[in-house]
Amino acid sequence: MEEPATQDFVREWVKADTESKKFGGRVQTRFPPEPNGYLHIGHAKSIYLNFGVAEEFGGKCLLRFDDTNPETEDPAFVTAIQEDLSWLGVSSAEPARFASDYFPQLYAWAEDLVRKGLAYVDDQDAETISEQRGGFGQPGIESPFRGRPVEENLGLFRQMRDSAFADGAKVLRAKIDMQADNMWLRDPVLYRIRRTPHHRTDNQWVIYPTYDWAHGQSDAIEGVTHSICTLEFADHRALYDWLLSQIDLPGDRPQQNEFARLNVTHWVLSKRVLRALVEDGHVDGWDDPRMPTLRGLRRRGYPPSAIKAFVDRVGVAKSNSVVEVELLESFVRTELNRSSLRRMAVVKPLKLTITNWPEGQVELMEVVNNPEDPDAGTRQVPFSGELWIEQDDFRLEPPPKYYRLTPGREVRLRNAFFVTATDAVTDDDGNVVEVLATYDPETLGGSAPDGRKVKSTMHWVSAGHALDATVHQYSRLFTEPHPGADGTDPLSSVNPNARETNPAKVEPALAEVAPGQVVQFERLGYFAADLDSPMVFHRTVGLRDEWAKIQKRKKNQPK
Ligand code: ATP
Ligand code: MG
Repeated sequence: MEEPATQDFVREWVKADTESKKFGGRVQTRFPPEPNGYLHIGHAKSIYLNFGVAEEFGGKCLLRFDDTNPETEDPAFVTAIQEDLSWLGVSSAEPARFASDYFPQLYAWAEDLVRKGLAYVDDQDAETISEQRGGFGQPGIESPFRGRPVEENLGLFRQMRDSAFADGAKVLRAKIDMQADNMWLRDPVLYRIRRTPHHRTDNQWVIYPTYDWAHGQSDAIEGVTHSICTLEFADHRALYDWLLSQIDLPGDRPQQNEFARLNVTHWVLSKRVLRALVEDGHVDGWDDPRMPTLRGLRRRGYPPSAIKAFVDRVGVAKSNSVVEVELLESFVRTELNRSSLRRMAVVKPLKLTITNWPEGQVELMEVVNNPEDPDAGTRQVPFSGELWIEQDDFRLEPPPKYYRLTPGREVRLRNAFFVTATDAVTDDDGNVVEVLATYDPETLGGSAPDGRKVKSTMHWVSAGHALDATVHQYSRLFTEPHPGADGTDPLSSVNPNARETNPAKVEPALAEVAPGQVVQFERLGYFAADLDSPMVFHRTVGLRDEWAKIQKRKKNQPK
């Protein structure tokens, strides 16, 4: 058994149960995604919690697909969700389960409810049923079909199963209490008719269980002890308990508890909204690096270990909150600082010609791969008289406090020489197209023997050796920190300029980067090599610790 990551109310709850030998000391959890979309970082929280708790208490966690809505589900999502789980580094001791595997048992238990007089067939349409439910402080109205005799209900329910009725013509409802304070106990629907082929059961069933009927019963079938949901299901708990108490269970009766969902600023963690982003063309797909999906974060270069460290740090709470995205980025940065190789890339190239460099000469500079990791060794980077530097690193007429290159000023070219700009070539519009400079041969390696200092160090790439690359840089997907929080459509604050793409010049060593590998482009940030297209890079995070800045600002705020 492992030490729990942090003590939280879920772990306290499970611990108390193991100590009192409830369930014979057994612990079993599940992660129950619906295969109707790709997982996002919120799901990672649920995954690490469910799999983590099981592991810490010597129990097990199963992956169960909650596949009860054939209209929206797809086997491609089943495969993708399993891939995402293994990317996160969690694995289940047993193969994935499917709620659809339990359709026969769920149906048999529903017949039991009918036989006990605890469920009835209602002929009313969904809208009428919903209106009759009433509201808090408003009475519910009993269906005229509520008093149907058991035999008639049983016959009708079987006919529903046998495809005798049209979609929506009838439903099966639990018979609980139309005046209950808890709306979920006002005769909830357990089965509806949908003539939609299911990705696993095909046309075998035309009736499908609702979430409330499938979920708790599936938990019971699998032997789940602790069913950990998010807070929006808190009101369902009374129904979860009621339904489980009415059927003859094969074993223990599972219990439900709820924790607060993960929310992150400048993102929306809802499959519905993420699907809309894809369908409306705001992003290229579910795996677009701007997306908070696990596929998007993976393409962006986020290490799963940083996601784990982030959700551990956020912890498990009983009330909803929103976490700053900068905290996540700081975990990503910390991890990448340790692990990623340093490379040079110029994103907005400007030609720099060294006029006193011996014609045609190439010097190989020995450069450290990662100062944080001595084992990463060194590489040789070619230097010549024609280089690419960043456009931003040169100004013909420098603004105040501009310490980079400008005519007459000396700067350091990282790992190479000191250079002094002498002149610049401009085009007809006055744009600088080339900088002319001289170098000091005495400054090889980037320091002067006479001890003179320069105020800035710049990165560069030898023009004759540079490789062409495409570099995508990202800003926030939503301009608002809390998109949709004021009741507006979250899509109205999508940032249309969240991606900036530039043709870049990069050093030759980048030909060897592996798909998905993240490197630090010196001075620019961390960049992930695309998973599919060679020489395409996505900016993962910048170099500056924005989280530390936020913390400092908060500390200095008057209380
Ligand atoms: P969404 O609202 O994004 O569609 P969902 O809850 O409908 O999510 P499911 O596939 O049903 O998606 O989710 C599987 C599990 O993941 C559920 O137990 C759910 O509570 C949990 N989960 C979903 N979103 C979050 C989140 N933001 N934080 C923590 N857990 C989450
Ligand atoms: Mg759901």
